Amino acid sequence: MRIGERAGATDPGRKRRRNEDSYVLDPPLFAVADGMGGAQAGEVASRLAAAAFREYHEADELPAGERLAAIVQEANRRIYERAREDAQASGMGTTVTSALLEGDRLVLGHVGDSRAYLLRGDEVTQLTDDHSLVADLVRSGRLTPQEAEAHPQRSVITRALGTDPEVDVDAIAVDARPGDVFLLCSDGLTTMVADDAILRIVQDAASLEDAARELVRAANRGGGEDNVTVILFRIEEGDDPALDETQAMTTNGDPGDDIDLEDTLSGLEPAAPAAAAPPEPPAEPEPEPAPEPRRRRRRVAFLLILLVLVAVLALTAYWIFAR
Ligand code: CA
Repeated sequence: MRIGERAGATDPGRKRRRNEDSYVLDPPLFAVADGMGGAQAGEVASRLAAAAFREYHEADELPAGERLAAIVQEANRRIYERAREDAQASGMGTTVTSALLEGDRLVLGHVGDSRAYLLRGDEVTQLTDDHSLVADLVRSGRLTPQEAEAHPQRSVITRALGTDPEVDVDAIAVDARPGDVFLLCSDGLTTMVADDAILRIVQDAASLEDAARELVRAANRGGGEDNVTVILFRIEEGDDPALDETQAMTTNGDPGDDIDLEDTLSGLEPAAPAAAAPPEPPAEPEPEPAPEPRRRRRRVAFLLILLVLVAVLALTAYWIFAR
């Protein structure tokens, strides 16, 4: 099997100013990350996760399940370290739902409450379990699925990247058949749009690109209370990924794509308002920023000069005043 048509879209929704979701569309590898944390930390966490999916090639030779697990662990380490170094980032975390096609199996690596679905014929199947408080309560029979939907703590997750040095990753494998459509999405879609409505939208759309846009629109019509991100891809017959150049690219899904991950949180610019489902494929990500040690040295040097200046000014003022 190979990946045929695919599309991704992300939108801040109608209630939030920032978009803390990121996604990676790098067939046969896909991922959605939904960040959380104060200030801009949620964005940093989900972008660090997306960057690990784009850049961590040490795992490339591993079988799909191990490869996804290795990338997720690497992403977890990066976020955890960053959260420890940077007071403003402490407590940040992110979900990750990732997929990799291997032969005729689709393998998933999953942490948190983003979801993967299989849309096959007239059926929609949720492939991942939510690692959330309400999902635990539903599984143990203390809440009905209907009660869970309206529960005030429905966004509380029980597992995330970035909170501990190691993370427990769910590994799931499903047989992929020609015509299957897989959906990866953040909870901004699934808390606003029911599963059967998702299926109908994808079935009725002329293309997966239209379907992705339409799913975002449906989430916004349903209230748009959270950032919403969707990735759709179709399985087709064939061995070779055989990608055409124009579609083989990655993105973190945000048109304001160049927030510098190596910079401090306080240095972040407010993100440009994200367009609803950009119709054009986004550009290649920027090359890696300068390595951190040099920037840090520069920052330290600047601070020292500033301190000396302040001291000189204070002494001068004191001297004038004393006379
Ligand atoms: Ca969310």
